Amino acid sequence: MGLVSPEILENIAKVALKYNIPLLKITSAQRLSLVGHNPDDIPAIWHDLGHDHLPHGPAGIHYIQACPGLKYCRYGRQDSLHLGERLEEELMDLKLPAKTKIGVSGCSMNCCEGFVRDLGIFAKKKGWTLVFGGNGGGRPRIGDIIGKDLDDNQVIALARKCLEQYRKLARPKERSARLMERTKLEDFKRAVAG
Ligand code: SF4
Repeated sequence: MGLVSPEILENIAKVALKYNIPLLKITSAQRLSLVGHNPDDIPAIWHDLGHDHLPHGPAGIHYIQACPGLKYCRYGRQDSLHLGERLEEELMDLKLPAKTKIGVSGCSMNCCEGFVRDLGIFAKKKGWTLVFGGNGGGRPRIGDIIGKDLDDNQVIALARKCLEQYRKLARPKERSARLMERTKLEDFKRAVAG
């Protein structure tokens, strides 16, 4: 979610110097890319960054973006950082047919671009709206609104059901946008309701 402490940044800088990494790139997904590393160093780099295991492959949740939200943005209606953390705890290990991007925004200005994420969540005064099946890539698609006015627990439960339904219906490596193009929205909504 783009959150780092001074200690984490200091460690990343140490690792970059140790392994002769010439450039660090802040990506559009709020991540930090170590550019120009030696591929043979990856396990050691990952270890020095404080992780025991290499990250899983692309078939699963690729990232969860969250905006500053209620705590740090004057437009924030809900706590998007807190919800992002909870989604990370509860959904990050799900195995899915293809890479899946999640964006959580604290108001309807939707700075994390929920309509073009596989799973987008944004806040309004009455609660969270959940959007599914968006894509911003070479074949863009605006996601479909699946639920509105949800509290934190409700939106997490609905997010899980959408992802489980995606896992059940999608072909291998099929992105959620392509699945939703060939699925009747009402059928999908019925399957994840309740
Ligand atoms: S989506 Fe809203 S709350 Fe989040 S950063 Fe943008 S304006 Fe602020």
